[in-house]
Amino acid sequence: MDISTIVKAAKEYLPDLNEKRLVSAYDFAKKAHDGQKRSDGSPYSTHPLATAKILTEFKVDEDTLITAFLHDVPEDTKYTLKDIEKMFGKKVSCLVEGVTKLSKVQYKHDMAERQIESLKRLFFHSAKDLRIILVKLADRLHNMRTLQYLPIRGKRIRIAKESLEIYAPIANLLGIWEIKSEMEDLCFEFLYPDDFKRTKQLVEESSLRNDEVIHKTVRKIKISLTKHNIKAEVRARKKNLYSIFKKMLHTGKTFHDIYDLVALRIIVEDIDACYRALGVVHQTFRPKHKRVKDYIAVPKVNGYQSLHTTVFGVDGTITEFQIRTYEMHLEAEYGIAAHYFYNASRGRVNGNRVPSIFKKHAEWAKKVLAIQKEVQTGYDFVENLKFDIFQDRIFVFTPQGDVIDLPYGANAVDFAYHIHSDVGNEAANAEINGERLPLTTQLNTGDTIKINRSKSSGGPHRGWLILVKTGLARTKIKEYFKKESSQNNYAAGLRVLKRELQLFGKNELKKLPEIREKEVLEKFDVDSIEALMTGIGEGNITVRNVIHEFYTSEEILGKPTSKSGLKDDDLLSKRRFDHAMAIVLGNEELKEKADKNSLCLYRVEINIICHDRVGLLKDIALTLSSLGVNIHEIKMATTANTVDRHMVVIIDVCDLEHLEEALRALTVVRDVVKIYKSS
Ligand code: MN
Repeated sequence: MDISTIVKAAKEYLPDLNEKRLVSAYDFAKKAHDGQKRSDGSPYSTHPLATAKILTEFKVDEDTLITAFLHDVPEDTKYTLKDIEKMFGKKVSCLVEGVTKLSKVQYKHDMAERQIESLKRLFFHSAKDLRIILVKLADRLHNMRTLQYLPIRGKRIRIAKESLEIYAPIANLLGIWEIKSEMEDLCFEFLYPDDFKRTKQLVEESSLRNDEVIHKTVRKIKISLTKHNIKAEVRARKKNLYSIFKKMLHTGKTFHDIYDLVALRIIVEDIDACYRALGVVHQTFRPKHKRVKDYIAVPKVNGYQSLHTTVFGVDGTITEFQIRTYEMHLEAEYGIAAHYFYNASRGRVNGNRVPSIFKKHAEWAKKVLAIQKEVQTGYDFVENLKFDIFQDRIFVFTPQGDVIDLPYGANAVDFAYHIHSDVGNEAANAEINGERLPLTTQLNTGDTIKINRSKSSGGPHRGWLILVKTGLARTKIKEYFKKESSQNNYAAGLRVLKRELQLFGKNELKKLPEIREKEVLEKFDVDSIEALMTGIGEGNITVRNVIHEFYTSEEILGKPTSKSGLKDDDLLSKRRFDHAMAIVLGNEELKEKADKNSLCLYRVEINIICHDRVGLLKDIALTLSSLGVNIHEIKMATTANTVDRHMVVIIDVCDLEHLEEALRALTVVRDVVKIYKSS
């Protein structure tokens, strides 16, 4: 096989193919991988070529084929994504980058089912474009086809297991049945060679999979259905070896008790037609006793619906029919993806409810392209998956490619403590996707994080206690400070408190009346102000609680500047919702609080010292608006040094908690150096 095979195959379904561009992509890959060999000894370029060949069977577009040619270039050659972008454009370089990223999804031998589940999700999550997944699946399929040449047995087994547990289910989920079943059978052969041989032999000896018998059966049933005026589609699909083996294993049936070696499916328009079609099947072939199952009236636990019947078919061959509507078929075949595919194709086929995806399997690829269009109209399957499944978790990578699962909003400090408490305690800075950034930088899914350590880092910062998202990091930081001398903790506590006071526009801790002070100290379970400081330094006492005890919210926020603030409805909707909930729940205390909140706004002036950059103002504005904070005015003030900018932002907040939220959120915006409320 050479490039002309691909060109020829692609031209058949891509009339506008830019042949020159496609060929130049292949030539480039060949040059880039020059001198590299596959483990079977052939030149490396045979691999991208074979990957592209697999993809032409799914009728993918030109960019996807080019991506297949280039998918190993950035990782394995001296050429970079930049080079690819220069030559083939941004779209291709994004696809290649996506495939490269997916390659980092790491599987380990002894992974628990839960971890495998999260890897599968990660797989979907990191692909911005379904074409990326498609290329990755084709890449893996070719690697599986050539797996026997890999010299190390352990590695062969790992790759086969990974394919079976991650890649095949993903292919199945996307309804790419050809890849799923070939991949499964290849894995089956590597992982359980004896069972594979036995199953294969049984199937070969069985007449049930005889092509001629299948063909005759389909024809006969089609004629009968037409005679009875039932519009239906009949299709036969051979069960792959691994599925047969799994069925024997899970049901304890022997091979001869399995009747759906070939699944004969009759797909009709509605439930009524299902039952009529069942009647037609029974009139055409004699049903086997007690083998009719009505999963339409009584669906399986997983929601599966169909009518099943086993009959004595052509030449007395025992044959199983599955009768279902298009919706049921989609649900059964595509699972989670069904809703997307169904919605996407509904109502488009001349008022006919038959989604075009069933016309032929090649249509699948068009769907993938259709998805790209859907993205532009705002409905994105992958996005929706993300939204449903990943709302509150992020997935990030270690430099070794291990996946770390953290709560949304976690920063590099959380990551460092997740690795090891020593890593956290000695963390100096973080390299996020190669860029050196502060440890408090919030992480996003797909980020690769390297923590740079230094023995002289001076240990964790007490300020981290407020910024970390994981309990683990908080506990470890506290543990660290417990070991410090009380003198150091006292000094540190004082520093932390000072900084916090400054944040709220105060210079010194207010002196409380003696009785009140006693009360407060008792509350924190300490006997002096000094001990209170030490407690803060140790991390046992939260500085914000101290602020709340010493100050009323009026002392910080002043008098409300406007009653009701009803103009900015949207921004305050979250608060309104709380209010409404309080009323619905009939919680008096909550209602009183919410009443106060929703009726008053406090105008507060905050100062932001920052390194200026493109987009910083936007980030600040977004951060504030996402919290429902109204921005009244932004002014620029001059600073002594020319590097930093000083912004004065006047905002409206509902209460002290709301202000705190805003200040806290702004602290972690990139390139913000310092935040404080004007006194
Ligand atoms: Mn590859």
